Amino acid sequence: MRRPPRRIVVLLTVTLLLSAGGFAAGWFKPTETTVTKLAPGIFFRKTQTKPQFIGCNQGWVVFKDFVLVIDANFPNQAEEVTKLIKQQTDKPIRYVFDTHYHGDHADGNMIYTAQGATAIASENSRQLFETKGIAGFRKSQQEKPAEYGSLKYEQPSLLFPRKMVIDDGTQRVELIHFGHAHTAGDAVAWLPEHGILFSGDACVNGAFNYTGDSDTESWIGVLTEMQKLPIKKIAPGHGEATDKSLLATQKRYFVELREAIQAAINDGKTLEQIKKSISLPFYEQWTGVDVKERTENIEFVYGELTKK
Ligand SMILES: [Zn+2]
Repeated sequence: MRRPPRRIVVLLTVTLLLSAGGFAAGWFKPTETTVTKLAPGIFFRKTQTKPQFIGCNQGWVVFKDFVLVIDANFPNQAEEVTKLIKQQTDKPIRYVFDTHYHGDHADGNMIYTAQGATAIASENSRQLFETKGIAGFRKSQQEKPAEYGSLKYEQPSLLFPRKMVIDDGTQRVELIHFGHAHTAGDAVAWLPEHGILFSGDACVNGAFNYTGDSDTESWIGVLTEMQKLPIKKIAPGHGEATDKSLLATQKRYFVELREAIQAAINDGKTLEQIKKSISLPFYEQWTGVDVKERTENIEFVYGELTKK
């Protein structure tokens, strides 16, 4: 076969990319790491996710005498955040709050505790840190020796059952565990004076949901509870900060995913058939990703709905 002239090949390629919808949805566009001041002394660092995933989003709150960091992130990102904070203030980092045990949120704890900070998490995440958390850390230590090297795993030492308040009269942060969502030990940071919610992975903005440690029915309930807060701004664990409507969007995903899979099960479809036929146009509109690509989510929810 004769090769078509080069210009036509280029045109074809561009057309194919555009028609895939990915360009319009931003799928090919690299994202940037940005730091935004959400309110006086309250900062949100949105981390790059494309082309390379470098970790979770983070926040920090500057109190009168100290700083509280929200989500430790990976060790190398914890170093970056420490540098950013040191550029802003001489105040010590006294607390690092892990919204949950996953490595991209908590593996960098030791970077903060080495500076004298205390790592905080919900009591319900203790067991997860002690088992899956440390196992994941050891795996990363083998896979990323340059970053993890000889670092020692540091679990949170300050655990709270449902709620812990840090308030010095200048800033107020409420750490709240609402129940089993993304993990059994999820907690969020709520700043009532500003209506800002740092939601961790209980609510993310984009195709970032991992369900492996979740209970999606309970997760929907947790999101409903969060919707009762007078939220003005959500700083999610992954993706762009936005307004309260993100809670409804995140909830809609799990409601529709469960409904679609349940309906298919009722029709006698197998998991393999469901993976090929499932369609949630709203999800693609929200994330730019076809739900069929979210195999982990589909398999997990199928397992939830079929287990006796
Ligand atoms: Zn997570």
